[in-house]
Amino acid sequence: MTTSTTTYEVVIGIEVHAQLLTRSKMFCSCSKDYFGTPVNSHVCPVCLALPGVMPVINRQAVEYTIMTGLALNCTIPQQAKFDRKNYHYPDLMKGYQISQYDLPLCENGWLEVDLDGETKRIGVTRVHLEEDTARSMHRTNAAGEDYSLIDVNRSGVPLMEVVSEPDVRSGKEARLYVTKLQQILRYLGVSQANLEEGNMRCEPNISLRPVGRDEFGSKVELKNLASFRAVERGVNFEIERQTALLESGRPVEHETRGWRDDIGETVSQRGKEMAEDYRYFPEPDLPLLAIAPEYVEELRAKLPELPDAKRERFVREYGLSAYDANLLTVDGEWAGYYEAAVDIDPGESDRRAARAKTIANWMLQDFAQVVNAQDVAFVGSEESISVRVPPAHLNQLVQLIEAETVSTTGAKSVFAEMLSSGKPPQQVVDEQGLTQISGADEIGAVVDDVIAANPDAVADYRGGKETALQFLVGQVMRQTRGRAKPDVVATLLTERLRS
Ligand SMILES: [Zn+2]
Repeated sequence: MTTSTTTYEVVIGIEVHAQLLTRSKMFCSCSKDYFGTPVNSHVCPVCLALPGVMPVINRQAVEYTIMTGLALNCTIPQQAKFDRKNYHYPDLMKGYQISQYDLPLCENGWLEVDLDGETKRIGVTRVHLEEDTARSMHRTNAAGEDYSLIDVNRSGVPLMEVVSEPDVRSGKEARLYVTKLQQILRYLGVSQANLEEGNMRCEPNISLRPVGRDEFGSKVELKNLASFRAVERGVNFEIERQTALLESGRPVEHETRGWRDDIGETVSQRGKEMAEDYRYFPEPDLPLLAIAPEYVEELRAKLPELPDAKRERFVREYGLSAYDANLLTVDGEWAGYYEAAVDIDPGESDRRAARAKTIANWMLQDFAQVVNAQDVAFVGSEESISVRVPPAHLNQLVQLIEAETVSTTGAKSVFAEMLSSGKPPQQVVDEQGLTQISGADEIGAVVDDVIAANPDAVADYRGGKETALQFLVGQVMRQTRGRAKPDVVATLLTERLRS
């Protein structure tokens, strides 16, 4: 297989569905916040599909979809239409789904991903609006018989679909695309866009064709990808599986396959006789939507600064590396915290860049460590890090380091106390006596003690072993609880050891 993989070109298009953060459902006034509530508690005649009901379009959902389209560089046609997509499945209450077929809200856009330092543009064919289905729950009774229950809470939740062009070429590109899309949806605040929770779902279709040929090979649609890692692994597995089939002269079946994360393989779910047998026709109960250009411009003006623009501005304005700027703009709230921490008191103009860099380091190293180790969120609750250590406190801590009031080591202890107590840094320094010692007399006394207590290390150093000095510096720092100024310690130690 390794010798001839290059003779096939991988072609991947990706469909992403995201539930929108509206208050109500797509065509009725039921709350869409059904997650964790009793089954069938968020329902009404419309989303239950009782006879004689009429759908009403959710204006907020339309706005969120157009905003997403604008963020993805789409054009917004002046007319959009809703259609009935007919198919039969137990969790589809009406026997059809209201979706959009030939006149979607947004079309012809793109987004960019960073692929090993190169910018790759991936086309977005369309963004349209539809409704989610109910949910089947499969059970087994005491007699061992299978049965299914339906929970209608999810039926009618606004669902936005983003369809990519077949521009993706690998599992890694698929992961980067979905990651970027999630980031944009979260910046816009239109969806929680969480793969693990299922409010964002990603379905790549993967096919292979001999290099140089225009026609596509048989497509396999992949489902059940509940994490970014699963997206990359699932796509890569399919590429290998299809390559092996083609090389042994066997055809690739056009089918839907599900990713099994536990075994690391895809398994067949249904064949092509089920797929794409949809019949669409215009939804007669809904009017054609006229989208005025002025309205689109109003929405464009409401767009927040998006991740790419923010990252470039961070490099320009704060003098950060592209790498750091990228990490700081992963999330809008995280980026906002950084800007607040720097801008609250940026310092004199010659100090500004240094302070911006130091604050970035604290966030990317110390904050990130705490988030990972203690599993606390950065934002969202009273316990969040951004609440316990507000931006002003981080700025003040960095100023204490600049003024040499605390050493870099001492600052770590101050930070730990700020985090657990929520106190401002100056108060922690005062209460705990963590002020840095730089006086030669005070440090000199400790240096003498350490030299007297460590004759072996002293002999090593005098015998030419330079590393012994580091050990002795460490001992002084320990005895002063990190308060001694490290360069003064090193100077005094060297002086005395050489005399
Ligand atoms: Zn309803």
